[in-house]
Amino acid sequence: MLLSVVVPCFNEEKNVHSFYEYTTKILAMENFNYELIFVNDGSSDNTIDCLKELSETYEEVSYISFSRNFGKESAMLAGLSYAGGDAVILMDGDLQHPPELIPQMVHYYNLGYHQVIAKRNRKGDALVKSSLSKLYYKLMNKFVDVSLVNGVGDFRLLSRKALNALLSLNEYNRFSKGLFSWIGFKEYTINYDNVVREEGESKWTLGKLFNYGIDGVISFNNKPLRISIYMGLSVTLLGFIYILTMLIKIWFAGIDVPGYFTLISAVLIIGGLQLTFLGIVGEYIGRIYYESKKRPHYVIEEESLTSKHEIHQKWHTHA
Ligand code: UDP
Ligand code: MG
Repeated sequence: MLLSVVVPCFNEEKNVHSFYEYTTKILAMENFNYELIFVNDGSSDNTIDCLKELSETYEEVSYISFSRNFGKESAMLAGLSYAGGDAVILMDGDLQHPPELIPQMVHYYNLGYHQVIAKRNRKGDALVKSSLSKLYYKLMNKFVDVSLVNGVGDFRLLSRKALNALLSLNEYNRFSKGLFSWIGFKEYTINYDNVVREEGESKWTLGKLFNYGIDGVISFNNKPLRISIYMGLSVTLLGFIYILTMLIKIWFAGIDVPGYFTLISAVLIIGGLQLTFLGIVGEYIGRIYYESKKRPHYVIEEESLTSKHEIHQKWHTHA
């Protein structure tokens, strides 16, 4: 069995080497056949030189390098589509995903699980961040049709079948957490203690996280649109009732001076609702716009292997 390990890297020059040392030590201990695929996501530091050096020194290391930063989702997709293994493990390059879990993951893969998920607790995370994410997952699971679990990220093993299913989803806006859940398959979850990043910085700012959160809601369902329809209908209905009662009142009591306050509040409320839902509709139109362009998910500047086929061949000639 060949195990592919896919590692997205963005400005990880301080971590690449220790990641390699640490991970391969564990992989070698278990006598796995493996390949490491690093994806340089347009780093502005020397990540690419570190990767080149690794892949020149070690046969089992290959890399793909993007022409600019395309984001982690694209980096993962590139690595996954190049992976030639019977099973693939997705890992961060900052050692926050403990490689010690790999043997366990493979164990459950051998037991027939198609997705083996590593779930972290939030030990060591800032309180604000962990409570916000708790709230986020609570809300998300009310809204979204696929189930998302707090602490479950991209660290997981996928069988070839699960991987092919994942790769067959070729939407432009990728929200992996949702996609993993969407493809289904028998899954097993392993718990582990959160690891705090040692070198380099997290690429997530609060703003980025917020946008990621919105992506999650929008790309996974059309419930926000549905809500807008229901709310719009209710507001219209209430409006009709109001008009009717006013008409009856006018019929019996005659016209009184319309209140400035009521007028303004009506304008504000209706205006606000309209703007909100216009925004939601706009979001979806934006998605359609991006999807309809059918742009590639990433542009490769250079790579150490030319095709997936070649990796397969390389593996088969070695086996
Ligand atoms: N990453 C990437 N492209 C990006 C941002 C991040 O490939 O635009 C990689 C990064 O190098 C790391 C992983 O994705 O290996 C997770 O990123 P980070 O550690 O910043 O996220 P966090 O662990 O804080 O959620
Ligand atoms: Mg990290």
